[in-house]
Amino acid sequence: MSEEIAFPKGELMKGKRGLIMGVANKNSIAWHIARQLHAQGATLAFTYANEALERRVRPLAQSVDAALIIECDVLDDASMEAAFAAVKDAWGELDFLVHAIAFTDKTALEGSFVENTTRQIFRDTMDVSAFSFVDAANRASHLMKPGGAMVTLTYLGSERTIPNYNVMGVAKAALEASMRYLARDLGPKGIRVNAISAGPIRTLAAAGISSGRHMFSFNRKASPLRDDTDPKGIAGAALYLLSDLGASCTGETHHVDAGFHIVGMPEEAALKE
Ligand code: NAD
Repeated sequence: MSEEIAFPKGELMKGKRGLIMGVANKNSIAWHIARQLHAQGATLAFTYANEALERRVRPLAQSVDAALIIECDVLDDASMEAAFAAVKDAWGELDFLVHAIAFTDKTALEGSFVENTTRQIFRDTMDVSAFSFVDAANRASHLMKPGGAMVTLTYLGSERTIPNYNVMGVAKAALEASMRYLARDLGPKGIRVNAISAGPIRTLAAAGISSGRHMFSFNRKASPLRDDTDPKGIAGAALYLLSDLGASCTGETHHVDAGFHIVGMPEEAALKE
């Protein structure tokens, strides 16, 4: 899918070096963002979560001339330490960070939130999907000069209830609040921190959500644009937020979802499958 998208070329990211965390395959949102940033002249480093994903991520990263391709499990302090040390050794500094990481147990992404959210699932989901951004932002900020920028990926399930999204919605609420506190702390250093709230995109992570097909068709029918969310729009928003175009914008959750988030009551047609 991503190969078909022609990302606008230019020089908005020329001279900027950034770390992309969260590519699993060519459908990953982080990969669309990486392609757009590369098309605008950025030099990129990538992390992959584990050995099994390396064989998918490495060729993609190489196709955009990645300077670094590093294993990094965000649940493992030593792995995070090593990844950011590798960036420091290679570049000494960092201009931007893309965080597109989330995970929960499949059993938590179906049915009842109250019945299916165990203590362990709650902790693990928060750890991977919210704390990892705080941790990565902290480490990245030590390598950033004024003008640095970070972006994370969130979803409307943080603000409204969405069937089966359950504990992940709670983690996304924590992620968005974390983003605002990070923006407050890092603002005086000239570092901007924002989130993109993306509409549904067909990725590995989305495949884990029960009744995903309904989610896609309802979003399409009920959104003001009557369309799916286009990965190009998400990548474009990331380009804006991470480049100097986004100057003065920090602490913002920017929705890129065909306008679905503004709908209080959908048209009648949207309710007929
Ligand atoms: P994806 O499956 O391609 O990406 C999720 C990434 O998280 C993978 O690269 C995976 O390796 C990584 N990850 C999970 N556990 C990890 C760990 N312990 N250490 C390191 N990495 C780990 O799916 P995606 O949809 O591109 O997801 C990227 C982000 O976008 C997520 O935060 C997701 O919640 C968010 N998002 C997705 C959608 C959607 O519809 N796909 C919508 C809004 C927001």
